[in-house]
Amino acid sequence: MAYTFEPIGVIRSPYKEKFGIPRQPGLIPEARGELVFCSPYNRPEAVIGLEGYSHVWLQFVFHQALRDEWQPMVRPPRLGGNKRVGVFASRAPFRPNPLGLSVVRLDGVRSADGEVVLELSGIDLLDGTPVLDVKPYVGYVDSIPEASSGFAPVAPAAKFGVRFSDLAEAQLLAHFEPEQLRLFITHLLEMDPRPAYTGEAEPDRVYGMRLYDFDLRWRISGQVIEVLELAPVGVD
Ligand code: SAM
Repeated sequence: MAYTFEPIGVIRSPYKEKFGIPRQPGLIPEARGELVFCSPYNRPEAVIGLEGYSHVWLQFVFHQALRDEWQPMVRPPRLGGNKRVGVFASRAPFRPNPLGLSVVRLDGVRSADGEVVLELSGIDLLDGTPVLDVKPYVGYVDSIPEASSGFAPVAPAAKFGVRFSDLAEAQLLAHFEPEQLRLFITHLLEMDPRPAYTGEAEPDRVYGMRLYDFDLRWRISGQVIEVLELAPVGVD
């Protein structure tokens, strides 16, 4: 039996590419985004009461991980990317139905000029992600403190210290809410955004990822990541 669903909204996110996005929500509280409801679901009545909740569940489509075929086993980054587990024992984007589930902070609900928007933070979603449903997080049901969590028992630890070059520091200060952005970038990089199977850091290699409207560029030296620049997109 086949079912057809259509998105109720779309995510606006600072993450403009898959590389570097945290592997679960909540790991980077400063990652702010929005869910913008699509017509005909952009009805202010449809979100009445939601403002009483601090968190919501989002069910979404991994729209940039669509494949014609599925594999029964995957290699989760938490296991170093070289050990396999069953796809249903993982949170991998590549699954028979490419559906994601994230619990995120609800910072606000906005309705104006025909737009209905949820203001979110702690997101792990790519810009443009189609959302199929939103449900309030209900603490007494959804939180199970004694739950066991297989191969991912605790949140991943920070791996690197982070410092900003003079150029990056100046570019940061020119940005809107620089201290919030500094924390966002620091938390993002200290957890090592590189894929799990990446070996030792190459000392002179410059890594980059697209965030907001800039390319974040950095280099790894020992246990420290140096942010080289927040280069405006399109500038080499
Ligand atoms: N919290 C969700 C879950 O458990 O279903 C997502 C977990 S999945 C391991 C997180 C990764 O999905 C991110 O690191 C990012 O690279 C990827 N991702 C996020 N949004 C995506 C999208 N729209 N399409 C494809 N991949 C996406």
